[in-house]
Amino acid sequence: MLLAAILAGGCARNPAAKVLASATEAVGGKDKIMALGTLTVEGEGTNPSLGQNLTPEAPLTVWKVTGFTESFDPEKGRMHMEQVRTAQFPFAMATTIRDNRSLDGDIAWDTDQDGNATRTTQRVALERRMELLHHPIAILRAAFDPTAKVGNYRKRGLDELIDVTTVNGDTVTLAVATDTHLPISVTSHADQPNLGDVSIETKFLDYQDQGGLKLPTHLVSTIDKWVRSDIRVSKNSINAPVNLAAPAPMRAALAAPADPPVSVTVQLVSPGVWWLNGDGNHHSVVIEFSDHLTLFEVPTSESRAKAVIEKARSLAFGKPLTDVIVSHHHFDHSAGLRTAAAEGLAIITQRGNLAFFKDLIARPHTIVPDELAMALSPPPMQIKVVDDEVKIKDDARELDLYHVKNNNHCDTLLMGWLPNERILIQADLYDSGWQRFPWADNLRENIELRGLKPEKDVPIHGKIEDWADVLKTMSAKPAAAEK
Ligand SMILES: [Zn+2]
Ligand SMILES: [Zn+2]
Repeated sequence: MLLAAILAGGCARNPAAKVLASATEAVGGKDKIMALGTLTVEGEGTNPSLGQNLTPEAPLTVWKVTGFTESFDPEKGRMHMEQVRTAQFPFAMATTIRDNRSLDGDIAWDTDQDGNATRTTQRVALERRMELLHHPIAILRAAFDPTAKVGNYRKRGLDELIDVTTVNGDTVTLAVATDTHLPISVTSHADQPNLGDVSIETKFLDYQDQGGLKLPTHLVSTIDKWVRSDIRVSKNSINAPVNLAAPAPMRAALAAPADPPVSVTVQLVSPGVWWLNGDGNHHSVVIEFSDHLTLFEVPTSESRAKAVIEKARSLAFGKPLTDVIVSHHHFDHSAGLRTAAAEGLAIITQRGNLAFFKDLIARPHTIVPDELAMALSPPPMQIKVVDDEVKIKDDARELDLYHVKNNNHCDTLLMGWLPNERILIQADLYDSGWQRFPWADNLRENIELRGLKPEKDVPIHGKIEDWADVLKTMSAKPAAAEK
């Protein structure tokens, strides 16, 4: 009785504590929540692919998710997620992928299709620790910890918002419905390398009773305005037998390095034309003009972009690197956009990317500051756009850039053409290592449309090949995935 009076007094003084108490009651009460050891959520839904849409503003391409199973233990900070996803869009690689991700405290690891586990980075562990809070049971449980802080009460429309800072120092916002008092969402902040500071929100919908608790059966997670996961829950299981502890080899392994060293190798393709290869399968091309160098593509990450820019600058006795062509907006290809801007390079891209690229360059990156965010006086933004085609020509070289027409992978794609060398520079139209060639016809049509007679393909993905071999390889494999 005395305790209840004290609690009530505390609530009156702290509206955030009051919201927490009413949400706890609405879900089933503190005893029920504390008695939950693990929760296993099963279902299916969709995983849209961020940064892989037809145009920067088009709907995201979508993976269909089946066999989604996520178990978590909020007390011990453990979780395990497995799902199978199938591409619902034309794709040149495996169209069915099995994801298997785990967390135990600050140890995060992934398990491949053959059962081989690999410890991931500390940043991934932190992201998963935050994700673990994106469930009503987990956030309420975290808020009960005597060292957790609950405060910053405010209203948003009909919802009441409070901030919860966990024992680990992670802060998330819990939204609670004023009528039902049920938690309706958790929001946290994270870094996404292309977008910088992003808010990640999971909405809790369609609550159902399960073992004395109310649990959501529809979970929709967004990253800024983009849905990244939408799961319809078919079954919530309380305290199902699951082993979520990190296996001994994962406990013994070091976390993967956050910034692994990048190797960039150089291959001279033709005098004044270099192909930059190295680790990974995203390459770049350097083209020498009479008084400057132009780079085609700064892909994958800030560290790769930096290494590629540095290598390009070393190639022609200090001839300045002045601009970079970004083939299209997809996040793997535009990952070095901000690095190029920080390095004072002019960006050349297709018109359809202009507004999006301006936004990417302007966005705040305070959680994980990149080179542009840290620049004391960032160079002025320079973006040159290509509508249908542009010919860049001086005494030493001609480089033509063409918008790739009617392509269902990306509608803002540029390909490069060196008419004197008869070299085609292309991204995402062909890679000899692909399982199938969804854009073989589209590539042939665009070559014909522009009246090109290539001798060599110098690609962003794959290997340099004679054009005759490209045509042969494309004819030998199917365009679409077998049903
Ligand atoms: Zn792409
Ligand atoms: Zn690509």
